[in-house]
Amino acid sequence: MARTVESAAALNPFAIAQLQFDTAARLLNLDSRLRAVLREPVRELHVSLPVRMDDGDVKVFKGFRVQYNDARGPAKGGIRFHPEETIDTVRALAAWMTWKTATVNVPFGGAKGGVICDPKRMSKSELERMTRRYASEILPIIGPSMDIPAPDVYTDAQTMAWIMDTYAMTVGHSAHGVVTGKPVSIGGSAGRSEATARGLLYVVEEACKLKKISLRGASVAIQGFGNAGATAARLFAEKKAKIIALGDTRGAVTNPRGIDPIKAIRYKERSGTVVGMPGASRFSNDELLTMKCDILIPAALENVITLHNAEAVKARIVAEAANGPTTPHADEILARRGITVLPDILANAGGVTVSYFEWVQNQEGLMWDVDEVNARLQKIMVRAFMEMVDTMRKHHVPPRAGAMILAVNRVAEATLVRGLFP
Ligand code: NAD
Repeated sequence: MARTVESAAALNPFAIAQLQFDTAARLLNLDSRLRAVLREPVRELHVSLPVRMDDGDVKVFKGFRVQYNDARGPAKGGIRFHPEETIDTVRALAAWMTWKTATVNVPFGGAKGGVICDPKRMSKSELERMTRRYASEILPIIGPSMDIPAPDVYTDAQTMAWIMDTYAMTVGHSAHGVVTGKPVSIGGSAGRSEATARGLLYVVEEACKLKKISLRGASVAIQGFGNAGATAARLFAEKKAKIIALGDTRGAVTNPRGIDPIKAIRYKERSGTVVGMPGASRFSNDELLTMKCDILIPAALENVITLHNAEAVKARIVAEAANGPTTPHADEILARRGITVLPDILANAGGVTVSYFEWVQNQEGLMWDVDEVNARLQKIMVRAFMEMVDTMRKHHVPPRAGAMILAVNRVAEATLVRGLFP
């Protein structure tokens, strides 16, 4: 009987990240000792965070920081607050950060952090105390030339401000470059908050040229309506694409004639969800993922396009704003069906690219305007897209393997030229 769902072990994000690495390593004919080095994180920190809650009780949260690789520069990666966070998710996200910074060729390694908590059920002051305690616990291994956190799911510019302040108060001097994705008032970069979605737009534009799809009038479905998804909806609509479906944790909404993203953003600000917004009818996230559209943008969490639904996906392009939304089995099915999957390590790399710009501006005391940031971002995203396409053609592989070969080769080269210490 044909398998219709992957086993829990096959859905483990770190197992998936390692499998993707193994494919690239095999195609690159990488030395087995080098494979062993690049297949595992270099450093992991597990922390326990006692936090005083508003009712006077003390709750202990569990957190992690994983530095996967720093051969090409300081480790870099976001911090996620999520009730279902696991060490293997953080490991996978740290690995993907390593391959992402290498794909766009910015001088960073890869890292990720996470705390198991439910931010939707915590007050702002509880979140601040937990964030500061987490920052304090991971402080020995972060810093502008060591490891630089940024926002991810359910963390934002405010979270980064608390981390930066905790770091600065502890080391005794200002240190803007310790985090990116900060508020602009304390050294954040113009254009950072929309950079992930803008970078996605730039690579989708290039893919549309290759597939001869006009972005103007193209239908777009987006799962996840946070920083990446809501901004993507707005930017794609500005290019006259038609946003025909949006989804978040509570469900999804659709209108084949198009949904105004600004109205959706305003509705979500008021009610906490897009579900119920006027001018769109309710349906499910499952239906959203398999609806007929030109461009499907998963912008929520991992493992949403799987063996279970890959045969039913009807998009022409899947642009991965989220990290790890497509499982390896689903990847194979989509490739066989001629659906272009723009892989996370390229498609959502606009965020880390502008984080790199933010760090450069902090280190050098510069302040670029948004036009300069966007022009530099476009140049990097288009170059990375072209390099991925060249690699795909050379190795006769789909986009993810193309990007992975490009990335793994860069990290391998850096590792070899540095040599083995001691
Ligand atoms: P966010 O917290 O701003 O938004 C997450 C969104 O996903 C919310 O709308 C939430 O309702 C939705 N969501 C969560 N679980 C869901 C589920 N089970 N079904 C449907 N919707 C669900 O987070 P974000 O920063 O936009 O991150 C989203 C994805 O993009 C993540 O995979 C993240 O790693 C990735 N990413 C983000 C950035 C960035 O700069 N923020 C950069 C690169 C990649």
